[in-house]
Amino acid sequence: MTTLAGARIADAPEASAITVRDGRITAIDDHIDGDRIDVSGLTVGPGLIDLQTNGAYGEDFTDDPTSIWRVGARLPEQGVTAFLPTIITSPPETIHAAQKVLAGRPADYRGAEPLGLHLEGPMISPHRPGVHDPSLIRQPSSEMIEGWTAQAGVAMVTLAPELEKAGTVVKALVVAGVVVSAGHSAADYEQAMTGFGWGITAATHLFNTMEPFHHRSPGLIGAVFDHPGVVAGMIVDGIHTHPATVRAAWKLLGPTRLALVTDSMAAAGLGDGEYVIGSSSVHVVDGRASDSNRRLAGSTLTLDQAVRNPVEFTGCTADQAVAAASSVPAQVLGLDDRGRLSVGGRADLAMFDSSMRVAATMVGGEMVWRS
Ligand code: ZN
Repeated sequence: MTTLAGARIADAPEASAITVRDGRITAIDDHIDGDRIDVSGLTVGPGLIDLQTNGAYGEDFTDDPTSIWRVGARLPEQGVTAFLPTIITSPPETIHAAQKVLAGRPADYRGAEPLGLHLEGPMISPHRPGVHDPSLIRQPSSEMIEGWTAQAGVAMVTLAPELEKAGTVVKALVVAGVVVSAGHSAADYEQAMTGFGWGITAATHLFNTMEPFHHRSPGLIGAVFDHPGVVAGMIVDGIHTHPATVRAAWKLLGPTRLALVTDSMAAAGLGDGEYVIGSSSVHVVDGRASDSNRRLAGSTLTLDQAVRNPVEFTGCTADQAVAAASSVPAQVLGLDDRGRLSVGGRADLAMFDSSMRVAATMVGGEMVWRS
Protein backbone atom coordinates (compact mmCIF):
# COMPACT_ATOMS: atom_id res chain seq x y z
CA MET A 1 0.00 0.00 0.00
CA THR A 2 1.22 3.51 -0.85
CA THR A 3 -0.19 6.93 -0.03
CA LEU A 4 0.49 10.02 -2.09
CA ALA A 5 0.28 12.71 0.54
CA GLY A 6 0.10 16.48 0.80
CA ALA A 7 -1.42 17.10 -2.60
CA ARG A 8 -4.35 18.99 -3.94
CA ILE A 9 -6.67 16.35 -5.35
CA ALA A 10 -8.56 17.29 -8.50
CA ASP A 11 -12.31 17.58 -7.85
CA ALA A 12 -11.87 16.55 -4.17
CA PRO A 13 -10.99 19.78 -2.31
CA GLU A 14 -11.43 18.25 1.14
CA ALA A 15 -8.93 15.43 0.50
CA SER A 16 -5.12 15.62 0.57
CA ALA A 17 -4.09 12.01 0.09
CA ILE A 18 -4.68 9.13 -2.31
CA THR A 19 -3.92 5.59 -1.25
CA VAL A 20 -3.27 2.92 -3.85
CA ARG A 21 -2.94 -0.84 -3.56
CA ASP A 22 -2.61 -3.56 -6.18
CA GLY A 23 -3.01 -1.03 -8.97
CA ARG A 24 -6.25 0.46 -7.67
CA ILE A 25 -7.23 3.53 -5.68
CA THR A 26 -8.37 2.41 -2.23
CA ALA A 27 -8.95 5.78 -0.56
CA ILE A 28 -9.20 9.49 -1.36
CA ASP A 29 -9.11 11.26 2.00
CA ASP A 30 -6.46 12.58 4.42
CA HIS A 31 -5.16 9.32 5.91
CA ILE A 32 -1.68 7.91 5.37
CA ASP A 33 -1.56 4.14 4.88
CA GLY A 34 1.62 2.20 4.10
CA ASP A 35 4.51 3.93 2.35
CA ARG A 36 4.20 7.69 2.18
CA ILE A 37 5.20 9.53 -0.98
CA ASP A 38 5.34 13.28 -0.47
CA VAL A 39 3.67 15.11 -3.33
CA SER A 40 3.17 18.44 -1.58
CA GLY A 41 2.54 21.32 -3.90
CA LEU A 42 1.26 19.10 -6.69
CA THR A 43 -2.23 18.54 -8.01
CA VAL A 44 -3.08 14.88 -8.47
CA GLY A 45 -5.50 14.23 -11.30
CA PRO A 46 -6.55 11.27 -13.40
CA GLY A 47 -3.98 10.06 -15.92
CA LEU A 48 -4.43 11.56 -19.37
CA ILE A 49 -5.81 9.47 -22.25
CA ASP A 50 -4.94 10.31 -25.86
CA LEU A 51 -7.55 9.05 -28.35
CA GLN A 52 -5.44 9.99 -31.36
CA THR A 53 -1.69 9.88 -31.64
CA ASN A 54 0.22 8.88 -34.76
CA GLY A 55 3.51 8.70 -32.94
CA ALA A 56 6.04 10.90 -31.16
CA TYR A 57 9.72 11.04 -30.21
CA GLY A 58 10.84 10.40 -33.79
CA GLU A 59 8.56 7.40 -34.36
CA ASP A 60 5.50 6.95 -36.59
CA PHE A 61 3.11 4.09 -35.77
CA THR A 62 1.91 3.70 -39.37
CA ASP A 63 5.44 3.61 -40.76
CA ASP A 64 6.60 1.21 -38.02
CA PRO A 65 3.93 -0.30 -35.74
CA THR A 66 6.60 -1.87 -33.51
CA SER A 67 7.27 1.65 -32.23
CA ILE A 68 3.98 1.54 -30.25
CA TRP A 69 5.74 0.11 -27.18
CA ARG A 70 8.77 2.42 -27.46
CA VAL A 71 6.60 5.54 -27.69
CA GLY A 72 4.18 4.24 -25.05
CA ALA A 73 7.06 3.90 -22.63
CA ARG A 74 7.75 7.64 -22.97
CA LEU A 75 4.18 8.99 -22.97
CA PRO A 76 4.04 9.18 -19.15
CA GLU A 77 6.39 12.18 -19.57
CA GLN A 78 3.24 13.93 -20.86
CA GLY A 79 1.04 12.66 -18.02
CA VAL A 80 -0.43 10.10 -20.42
CA THR A 81 -1.41 6.77 -18.85
CA ALA A 82 -3.38 5.30 -21.78
CA PHE A 83 -3.58 5.96 -25.51
CA LEU A 84 -4.89 4.79 -28.84
CA PRO A 85 -2.00 4.32 -31.27
CA THR A 86 -3.43 5.65 -34.50
CA ILE A 87 -2.87 4.09 -37.91
CA ILE A 88 -3.78 6.38 -40.79
CA THR A 89 -5.17 5.17 -44.15
CA SER A 90 -3.07 2.09 -44.96
CA PRO A 91 -3.21 -1.25 -46.73
CA PRO A 92 -4.67 -4.16 -44.70
CA GLU A 93 -1.17 -5.59 -44.06
CA THR A 94 -0.17 -2.52 -42.07
CA ILE A 95 -3.31 -2.76 -39.94
CA HIS A 96 -2.74 -6.48 -39.34
CA ALA A 97 0.88 -5.82 -38.42
CA ALA A 98 -0.21 -3.21 -35.87
CA GLN A 99 -2.78 -5.62 -34.39
CA LYS A 100 -0.01 -8.19 -34.03
CA VAL A 101 2.30 -5.73 -32.31
CA LEU A 102 -0.43 -4.89 -29.78
CA ALA A 103 -1.04 -8.57 -29.09
CA GLY A 104 2.68 -9.08 -28.41
CA ARG A 105 3.03 -6.95 -25.31
CA PRO A 106 6.62 -7.11 -24.04
CA ALA A 107 6.70 -8.88 -20.65
CA ASP A 108 8.72 -6.10 -19.02
CA TYR A 109 6.71 -3.21 -20.49
CA ARG A 110 6.33 -0.13 -18.30
CA GLY A 111 4.52 2.83 -19.75
CA ALA A 112 1.19 4.19 -20.90
CA GLU A 113 -1.31 1.47 -21.73
CA PRO A 114 -2.30 1.12 -25.40
CA LEU A 115 -6.07 0.52 -25.22
CA GLY A 116 -6.38 -0.60 -28.83
CA LEU A 117 -5.74 0.92 -32.24
CA HIS A 118 -7.47 3.94 -33.65
CA LEU A 119 -7.82 3.14 -37.36
CA GLU A 120 -8.18 6.53 -39.02
CA GLY A 121 -9.21 5.42 -42.50
CA PRO A 122 -9.11 3.91 -45.04
CA MET A 123 -12.92 4.35 -45.35
CA ILE A 124 -12.75 8.13 -45.63
CA SER A 125 -13.91 10.73 -48.13
CA PRO A 126 -11.73 11.19 -51.22
CA HIS A 127 -12.75 14.87 -50.93
CA ARG A 128 -11.28 15.28 -47.44
CA PRO A 129 -8.14 13.12 -47.31
CA GLY A 130 -5.87 15.59 -45.58
CA VAL A 131 -2.42 14.04 -45.91
CA HIS A 132 -3.76 10.48 -46.21
CA ASP A 133 -2.71 8.78 -49.46
CA PRO A 134 -5.80 9.04 -51.75
CA SER A 135 -4.79 5.85 -53.61
CA LEU A 136 -5.26 3.85 -50.38
CA ILE A 137 -8.78 5.14 -49.61
CA ARG A 138 -11.39 2.35 -49.71
CA GLN A 139 -15.18 2.11 -49.78
CA PRO A 140 -16.81 0.68 -46.65
CA SER A 141 -17.40 -3.06 -46.92
CA SER A 142 -17.79 -6.06 -44.65
CA GLU A 143 -14.55 -7.50 -46.07
CA MET A 144 -12.65 -4.34 -45.17
CA ILE A 145 -13.50 -4.65 -41.47
CA GLU A 146 -12.95 -8.38 -41.11
CA GLY A 147 -11.07 -8.95 -37.85
CA TRP A 148 -11.68 -5.41 -36.61
CA THR A 149 -12.96 -6.13 -33.12
CA ALA A 150 -12.20 -4.73 -29.68
CA GLN A 151 -10.84 -8.15 -28.75
CA ALA A 152 -8.46 -8.10 -31.71
CA GLY A 153 -7.08 -4.73 -30.66
CA VAL A 154 -9.22 -2.23 -32.56
CA ALA A 155 -10.68 0.39 -30.21
CA MET A 156 -11.80 3.10 -32.59
CA VAL A 157 -12.40 3.62 -36.31
CA THR A 158 -12.68 6.96 -38.08
CA LEU A 159 -14.77 6.85 -41.23
CA ALA A 160 -16.90 9.11 -43.41
CA PRO A 161 -20.59 8.35 -42.72
CA GLU A 162 -21.78 9.63 -46.12
CA LEU A 163 -20.06 6.80 -48.01
CA GLU A 164 -22.13 4.00 -49.48
CA LYS A 165 -22.58 1.01 -47.12
CA ALA A 166 -21.25 3.06 -44.20
CA GLY A 167 -24.38 2.18 -42.22
CA THR A 168 -23.79 -1.56 -42.45
CA VAL A 169 -20.15 -1.13 -41.46
CA VAL A 170 -20.85 1.22 -38.53
CA LYS A 171 -23.45 -1.14 -37.08
CA ALA A 172 -21.13 -4.15 -37.43
CA LEU A 173 -18.26 -2.28 -35.75
CA VAL A 174 -20.46 -1.21 -32.84
CA VAL A 175 -21.49 -4.86 -32.34
CA ALA A 176 -17.76 -5.76 -32.39
CA GLY A 177 -17.17 -3.34 -29.51
CA VAL A 178 -15.45 -0.73 -31.66
CA VAL A 179 -16.13 2.99 -31.16
CA VAL A 180 -16.89 4.72 -34.45
CA SER A 181 -15.95 8.32 -35.06
CA ALA A 182 -16.94 10.49 -38.03
CA GLY A 183 -14.09 12.26 -39.73
CA HIS A 184 -12.21 12.98 -42.95
CA SER A 185 -15.74 13.47 -44.21
CA ALA A 186 -17.74 15.66 -46.54
CA ALA A 187 -21.00 14.72 -44.78
CA ASP A 188 -23.79 17.24 -44.68
CA TYR A 189 -25.87 17.75 -41.52
CA GLU A 190 -28.43 15.06 -42.38
CA GLN A 191 -25.81 12.46 -43.32
CA ALA A 192 -23.95 13.11 -40.07
CA MET A 193 -27.12 12.82 -38.00
CA THR A 194 -27.98 9.57 -39.78
CA GLY A 195 -24.51 8.29 -38.86
CA PHE A 196 -25.06 9.18 -35.20
CA GLY A 197 -28.29 7.21 -35.40
CA TRP A 198 -26.32 4.14 -36.53
CA GLY A 199 -24.12 4.37 -33.45
CA ILE A 200 -21.34 6.82 -34.30
CA THR A 201 -20.50 8.48 -30.98
CA ALA A 202 -17.53 10.70 -31.80
CA ALA A 203 -16.08 13.07 -34.36
CA THR A 204 -12.41 13.09 -35.29
CA HIS A 205 -10.45 16.36 -34.99
CA LEU A 206 -13.53 18.58 -35.15
CA PHE A 207 -13.18 21.35 -37.78
CA ASN A 208 -10.22 19.72 -39.55
CA THR A 209 -10.79 17.68 -42.74
CA MET A 210 -14.56 18.20 -42.78
CA GLU A 211 -16.95 20.66 -44.44
CA PRO A 212 -16.66 24.07 -42.79
CA PHE A 213 -19.63 25.25 -40.73
CA HIS A 214 -22.04 27.22 -42.90
CA HIS A 215 -25.16 28.83 -41.46
CA ARG A 216 -27.41 27.28 -44.11
CA SER A 217 -25.48 24.04 -44.33
CA PRO A 218 -24.07 23.25 -40.88
CA GLY A 219 -22.55 19.91 -41.93
CA LEU A 220 -20.85 17.46 -39.59
CA ILE A 221 -19.71 20.31 -37.33
CA GLY A 222 -23.26 21.57 -36.83
CA ALA A 223 -24.49 18.01 -36.27
CA VAL A 224 -21.89 17.49 -33.53
CA PHE A 225 -23.01 20.71 -31.80
CA ASP A 226 -26.61 19.54 -32.07
CA HIS A 227 -26.28 15.96 -30.86
CA PRO A 228 -25.83 15.58 -27.08
CA GLY A 229 -24.51 12.02 -27.38
CA VAL A 230 -21.47 12.82 -29.50
CA VAL A 231 -17.98 13.66 -28.27
CA ALA A 232 -15.67 15.77 -30.43
CA GLY A 233 -11.95 15.17 -30.53
CA MET A 234 -10.11 18.47 -30.98
CA ILE A 235 -6.51 19.43 -31.66
CA VAL A 236 -6.06 22.47 -29.45
CA ASP A 237 -2.59 23.55 -30.54
CA GLY A 238 -3.41 27.05 -31.77
CA ILE A 239 -2.58 25.88 -35.33
CA HIS A 240 -5.29 23.35 -36.26
CA THR A 241 -7.95 25.44 -34.53
CA HIS A 242 -7.85 29.18 -33.84
CA PRO A 243 -8.15 30.13 -30.15
CA ALA A 244 -11.47 31.89 -30.88
CA THR A 245 -12.77 28.65 -32.43
CA VAL A 246 -11.66 26.78 -29.33
CA ARG A 247 -13.53 29.29 -27.14
CA ALA A 248 -16.73 28.86 -29.18
CA ALA A 249 -16.46 25.06 -29.19
CA TRP A 250 -15.71 25.02 -25.47
CA LYS A 251 -18.90 27.00 -24.76
CA LEU A 252 -20.92 24.46 -26.74
CA LEU A 253 -19.14 21.23 -25.82
CA GLY A 254 -16.79 21.69 -22.89
CA PRO A 255 -15.92 20.07 -20.65
CA THR A 256 -18.10 16.97 -21.04
CA ARG A 257 -18.23 16.57 -24.86
CA LEU A 258 -14.85 17.83 -25.93
CA ALA A 259 -11.90 15.41 -25.91
CA LEU A 260 -8.46 16.95 -26.19
CA VAL A 261 -6.33 14.86 -28.55
CA THR A 262 -2.83 15.44 -29.84
CA ASP A 263 -2.99 13.89 -33.34
CA SER A 264 0.75 14.03 -32.75
CA MET A 265 3.29 12.93 -35.32
CA ALA A 266 6.92 11.90 -35.00
CA ALA A 267 8.21 15.41 -34.19
CA ALA A 268 6.17 15.64 -30.97
CA GLY A 269 8.56 15.68 -28.04
CA LEU A 270 11.49 16.50 -30.34
CA GLY A 271 11.64 19.59 -32.52
CA ASP A 272 11.62 21.04 -36.01
CA GLY A 273 13.05 18.94 -38.85
CA GLU A 274 12.19 16.31 -41.44
CA TYR A 275 9.91 13.41 -40.49
CA VAL A 276 7.40 10.99 -42.00
CA ILE A 277 3.73 10.25 -41.38
CA GLY A 278 2.55 7.05 -43.04
CA SER A 279 4.13 7.25 -46.48
CA SER A 280 4.40 11.07 -46.70
CA SER A 281 7.39 13.14 -45.73
CA VAL A 282 6.68 16.00 -43.39
CA HIS A 283 8.48 19.25 -42.81
CA VAL A 284 8.24 20.74 -39.30
CA VAL A 285 8.92 24.47 -38.87
CA ASP A 286 8.09 26.34 -35.64
CA GLY A 287 6.12 23.32 -34.46
CA ARG A 288 3.91 23.31 -37.57
CA ALA A 289 3.97 19.97 -39.44
CA SER A 290 3.06 20.13 -43.13
CA ASP A 291 3.56 18.06 -46.26
CA SER A 292 4.99 19.28 -49.59
CA ASN A 293 1.57 20.83 -50.46
CA ARG A 294 1.60 22.76 -47.17
CA ARG A 295 -1.27 20.67 -45.84
CA LEU A 296 -1.21 20.10 -42.06
CA ALA A 297 0.24 16.67 -41.34
CA GLY A 298 -0.57 15.97 -37.72
CA SER A 299 0.56 18.09 -34.82
CA THR A 300 3.65 18.36 -32.66
CA LEU A 301 1.45 18.72 -29.61
CA THR A 302 2.05 16.80 -26.41
CA LEU A 303 -1.07 16.01 -24.35
CA ASP A 304 0.10 18.04 -21.34
CA GLN A 305 0.43 21.08 -23.61
CA ALA A 306 -3.00 20.23 -25.07
CA VAL A 307 -4.31 20.52 -21.49
CA ARG A 308 -2.55 23.82 -20.80
CA ASN A 309 -3.80 25.47 -24.01
CA PRO A 310 -7.56 25.54 -23.28
CA VAL A 311 -6.84 27.12 -19.90
CA GLU A 312 -5.07 29.92 -21.76
CA PHE A 313 -7.54 30.10 -24.69
CA THR A 314 -10.86 29.77 -22.83
CA GLY A 315 -10.17 30.59 -19.18
CA CYS A 316 -11.48 27.20 -18.10
CA THR A 317 -10.06 25.67 -14.92
CA ALA A 318 -7.10 23.29 -14.97
CA ASP A 319 -9.34 20.52 -13.60
CA GLN A 320 -11.80 21.04 -16.46
CA ALA A 321 -9.02 20.89 -19.04
CA VAL A 322 -7.66 17.71 -17.43
CA ALA A 323 -11.17 16.20 -17.55
CA ALA A 324 -11.30 16.90 -21.29
CA ALA A 325 -8.18 14.74 -21.66
CA SER A 326 -9.15 12.03 -19.19
CA SER A 327 -12.78 11.50 -18.20
CA VAL A 328 -14.19 12.49 -21.61
CA PRO A 329 -11.94 10.11 -23.59
CA ALA A 330 -12.62 7.35 -21.05
CA GLN A 331 -16.35 7.95 -21.41
CA VAL A 332 -16.27 7.77 -25.21
CA LEU A 333 -14.35 4.47 -24.93
CA GLY A 334 -16.92 3.18 -22.45
CA LEU A 335 -14.35 2.70 -19.68
CA ASP A 336 -15.55 3.46 -16.17
CA ASP A 337 -12.42 2.54 -14.22
CA ARG A 338 -10.19 5.05 -16.03
CA GLY A 339 -10.20 8.77 -16.59
CA ARG A 340 -11.32 9.88 -13.15
CA LEU A 341 -10.28 9.54 -9.55
CA SER A 342 -12.55 7.09 -7.79
CA VAL A 343 -12.15 4.50 -5.07
CA GLY A 344 -11.92 1.15 -6.82
CA GLY A 345 -10.77 2.75 -10.06
CA ARG A 346 -7.37 2.18 -11.62
CA ALA A 347 -4.47 4.03 -10.00
CA ASP A 348 -3.60 5.89 -13.20
CA LEU A 349 -2.55 9.33 -12.02
CA ALA A 350 -0.98 12.45 -13.48
CA MET A 351 0.59 14.93 -11.07
CA PHE A 352 0.99 18.56 -12.09
CA ASP A 353 2.93 21.43 -10.56
CA SER A 354 1.44 24.90 -10.15
CA SER A 355 2.24 25.83 -13.77
CA MET A 356 0.55 22.62 -14.97
CA ARG A 357 3.80 20.93 -15.94
CA VAL A 358 3.77 17.18 -15.39
CA ALA A 359 5.75 16.32 -12.26
CA ALA A 360 5.01 12.60 -11.97
CA THR A 361 2.89 9.89 -13.55
CA MET A 362 1.59 6.66 -12.07
CA VAL A 363 0.26 3.81 -14.20
CA GLY A 364 -1.57 0.97 -12.50
CA GLY A 365 -0.22 1.99 -9.10
CA GLU A 366 3.38 2.14 -10.28
CA MET A 367 5.27 5.41 -10.44
CA VAL A 368 6.59 5.19 -14.01
CA TRP A 369 7.89 8.72 -14.41
CA ARG A 370 9.06 11.67 -12.27
CA SER A 371 10.44 14.95 -13.54
ZN1 ZN B 1 -6.82 13.06 -39.58
